[in-house]
Amino acid sequence: MRKPVHLRKNVSMQRLNKNHNGYHGETIDIRAVLRDIESTATQHGWTSEAFGKQGEFNLLALRRPSPSTLNPQRATRIYLSSGIHGDEPAGPLAALRLLRENQWPENVELWFCPCLNPMGFVLNRRENADGRDLNRDYRNPQTVEVRAHLAWLERQPQFDLYLCLHEDWESHGFYLYEQNPDPKPSLAEKMIEAVRKVCPIDLSENIEGRVAKQGIVRPNIKPHERPDWPEAFYLITHKSRQGYTLEAPSDFPLNVRVNALVAGVGAALACFRSCAS
Ligand SMILES: [Zn+2]
Repeated sequence: MRKPVHLRKNVSMQRLNKNHNGYHGETIDIRAVLRDIESTATQHGWTSEAFGKQGEFNLLALRRPSPSTLNPQRATRIYLSSGIHGDEPAGPLAALRLLRENQWPENVELWFCPCLNPMGFVLNRRENADGRDLNRDYRNPQTVEVRAHLAWLERQPQFDLYLCLHEDWESHGFYLYEQNPDPKPSLAEKMIEAVRKVCPIDLSENIEGRVAKQGIVRPNIKPHERPDWPEAFYLITHKSRQGYTLEAPSDFPLNVRVNALVAGVGAALACFRSCAS
């Protein structure tokens, strides 16, 4: 007998319990994923720029100008990145899905770095080929990848919002970090609400040593006291006054994590204009 649809859906959202001391889940063919990302982006009118090299790979930045150039209101500028940790395959897959779906709000200009550490995916590990965690190298950059990324970022305008896509193999569900110092209307609750429909939320009161509430971590960061900046610290101090780091739970099936990141990004984009006005 066929199981009711809602039951099958719940089963597919169950925790796998196989990721202990690191990520042991599904891996991706990053060469194929990047080929698809680039061709899909080109097909939908994005321009693509190689801002650096990592081994055989080009480090890719995609850009999509606002199609409604006649709108007198300045387009909202949104920066997205994924694939800085090579053991977090949901990020580049979510990038590909978002590009394929091509559902972007009106009057939005987008910058997208879909894979900041392709070699990490070849090796299925967090770090680059030299064992460096690129997402700790944004203050006094030592790696060629982050130096190239920073040089590219410095050439771009200020962004209204940044979204960094990640995964966490230890988490019990999806969660996110919010940086919103001014503070502007928060997008966090709307993102959690949207993700909850496709992926469990981590309801722990403490995540990665920080206070968390309903899957939202609002860390009181003091970047100048920390030597090892993640990308988000550079973005919030130099490029944007609001941003989110999305963390999908790696101990769930890969499609659930991709759905979670896509839903989180979708909610942030949909809400950004309406919540801000
Ligand atoms: Zn990560």
